[in-house]
Amino acid sequence: TNTALLSVNNIEVIYNHVILVLKGVSLEVPPGRIVALLGANGAGKSTTLKAISTLLASERGDITQGSIEFKGERIDRATPDALVKRGIVQVMEGRHCFGHLSVEENLLTGAFTRKHSRAEQKAALERIYHYFPRLKQRRTSQAGYTSGGEQQMTAIGRAMMAQPEMILLDEPSMGLAPQIVEEIFEIVKELNQKEKVSFLLAEQNTHVALRYADFGYILENGRVVMDGTAEELAGNEDVKEFYLGLG
Ligand code: ATP
Repeated sequence: TNTALLSVNNIEVIYNHVILVLKGVSLEVPPGRIVALLGANGAGKSTTLKAISTLLASERGDITQGSIEFKGERIDRATPDALVKRGIVQVMEGRHCFGHLSVEENLLTGAFTRKHSRAEQKAALERIYHYFPRLKQRRTSQAGYTSGGEQQMTAIGRAMMAQPEMILLDEPSMGLAPQIVEEIFEIVKELNQKEKVSFLLAEQNTHVALRYADFGYILENGRVVMDGTAEELAGNEDVKEFYLGLG
């Protein structure tokens, strides 16, 4: 029996009909867990997330083999809207806030808020501000003028507005100072524990990812070359040598 929330089964992904990027990737995210997808630049982490979130299509990428299931149902032919309704949201690499809108307006673009009353919108915002007090302080600031860390928080907060069961998080540490990275991962952990959101996160920062994740998969050149609990991976000699820089 399959108890995974998300399972990716032996997927192959080809860009532009010729460039084979994922060569049979399989992974699972159990309910309520944080799973890290690790590996060097170009290993295929973003492509894996985009295959799950259906964003591949807009980049001329196709899943040419394998399947993806969420709660036991195939989702590899779903539309992005259908996925959000089922409870999966992706936060893209590079944060992607609407720079000219305020932080709060950005958050409000995240849910199907048009269908909701003002009171419901306000409650949803307060729930986000509880986890991201910095965003509450910056609610009226134009998002484009907030810090990189605040923009990453806005992007995650916006995803939370859809009340997802699972968030696909691409490279949350990118370009951020270590202290801010820590702050963001602490919030991810809190959302995981208190809101029961599962996370699949792609990270080049192996060190921080393995401290917050439960499980990890290491991708090299479009293949999973190793997987295990975060503890197992952090203690593995090859992982230490090639990904943690500890020799
Ligand atoms: P990064 O940290 O740079 O995002 P990654 O592990 O997420 O790395 P991907 O972005 O998935 O890796 O890229 C995997 C490979 O696929 C790379 O060789 C990349 O050049 C290639 N690739 C990515 N997007 C496309 C595209 N739209 N068309 C063609 N090739 C692509």
